[in-house]
Amino acid sequence: MRILVVEDERAIADFISRGLESEGYAVTWVADGVEGEALARTGRFDLVLLDIMLPGKNGLEVLASLRSEDSETPVILLTAKGEVPDRVAGLDAGATDYIPKPFAFEELVARIRAHLRTPGQGASTELQVGDIEMNLLKRTVSRQGTQVNLSAREFDLLAFLMRHPGQVLSKEQLLNGVWGYDYDPGTNIVGVYIAYLRRKLAIDGSPEPIETLRSVGYRLVDGQ
Ligand code: CA
Repeated sequence: MRILVVEDERAIADFISRGLESEGYAVTWVADGVEGEALARTGRFDLVLLDIMLPGKNGLEVLASLRSEDSETPVILLTAKGEVPDRVAGLDAGATDYIPKPFAFEELVARIRAHLRTPGQGASTELQVGDIEMNLLKRTVSRQGTQVNLSAREFDLLAFLMRHPGQVLSKEQLLNGVWGYDYDPGTNIVGVYIAYLRRKLAIDGSPEPIETLRSVGYRLVDGQ
């Protein structure tokens, strides 16, 4: 799957590109609206992530130009805080979806998956690790068949862990993946949410699914 990223803020573009590449997508990044338009119109991409405020040509103009000949390719607008009128204009202009900045990578990936999904790929909406099952579309989780009610953030954190079963994930990776690129790296929020998840996933007599590796990170045990 090929994704075009049109975004002039290097830090955000890096964050998106690195993350999407690690999920197996091929990413092409351009920082300018004119170039973005030319590439988007080649039809070589399965999805376009489009910033609104861009040098050269703004995202809404790029979108209008693309839609004049291609109504199919999903386009997700990346909108800055307070750009609500732009979001409405964007959806009117044919955007498939928009995602407000700042966003967490997990949320971006969920939206991308939702829009790339074609009939027959339904299986990719389910994750299973050990005795934990997750439905990404319905946003439901169960352990040993018993439903577990999670907040949106807890769900995103568990989804991120479940996409990397058995791997040690550092606090920074989890922070980037679940909370987003502009979160204070000194925060202890990851530890707090890991504790919430553990409490909700706990079943008497069953092993703890999330391991802590002191000063290294966390790992979702990929047992059974
Ligand atoms: Ca911008």
